Amino acid sequence: MKSSNPNNVTIIMYHYVRSQYTGSGIFGMTCEEFNIHISNLKKLYTIISPEKFFLAIENQIKLPKNSCLLTFDDGLADHYNNVYPILKKHKIYGLFFPLSMPEIENKFANVHKIHLLRQKLGEEIFAEKFYSSTSKEHIKLAKDLVKQKQKLKLYKWDNEKIALIKILANFIIPYAVLDEILESLFNENIKKNVTDFYLTDDQIKEMHKDGHNFGAHGHEHKIFSRLTKEQQYKDISISKNYLKNIIDDNISSFCYPYGDESTYTNTTISILKSLNFKAAFTSTVGKFRTDDNVFSIKRFDPKNMTTEKN
Ligand SMILES: [Zn+2]
Repeated sequence: MKSSNPNNVTIIMYHYVRSQYTGSGIFGMTCEEFNIHISNLKKLYTIISPEKFFLAIENQIKLPKNSCLLTFDDGLADHYNNVYPILKKHKIYGLFFPLSMPEIENKFANVHKIHLLRQKLGEEIFAEKFYSSTSKEHIKLAKDLVKQKQKLKLYKWDNEKIALIKILANFIIPYAVLDEILESLFNENIKKNVTDFYLTDDQIKEMHKDGHNFGAHGHEHKIFSRLTKEQQYKDISISKNYLKNIIDDNISSFCYPYGDESTYTNTTISILKSLNFKAAFTSTVGKFRTDDNVFSIKRFDPKNMTTEKN
């Protein structure tokens, strides 16, 4: 059923929120910036709870004008340590998308291994080490993509060397090879506990009890369009069951890892539907209307938006 009078919702996607950032590789908002950002949003928007959002996409309620929904990707410990107290102070609720691999397998996702390696080694040394572990053939394929101006727009915030590494990691190097390269670079250089970096089961439980909502973000944070149907099904269902076991709630929303249109397919969407997901969030930039396709929901990165009314 289509609503005759759909609502616009501005959905924001956050990642790191921490007191300070050292080196490169990890970028995001400081706690202070996040707090100010929320105060500004509250002046311009009605920040709605995830439950209200889900009711609105099923046409059960109408949302206030200028509604805004806050979403947080990757299940970072930052979300418990820094985001949760600030949301509490403002009496607002967020939608969080943790991964399941960190807690189940005590392993970092590749995306975060790359962030932490860049931070620890610096961009130059990391790039050098990464290239020296990568075959010439793969580097050539990635450079060809850059020459054709493909994929680069995905990494407009990165310098060219780092963008090339992300293209290699995300599109060129087969996952089995990439996992090995990053595993060995990571083990050589980073000493960090998984539980200090990601949300723990208890933290998820506590935040959920306090009114926050959780959706799945996959198990390993891999690009679904690179996986077989069976691999996608397995990854998605592990991540859904993981959350269901912790919070015993309907896990009705999903967030595509990386999340632009090239990272998922119609197969992914049909798997999500078969697993009873009601909505899936992308990282494509734009406003969402409640009568849009609920399996390709657009969001804004705080970098792409001003807190001015638009
Ligand atoms: Zn993610």
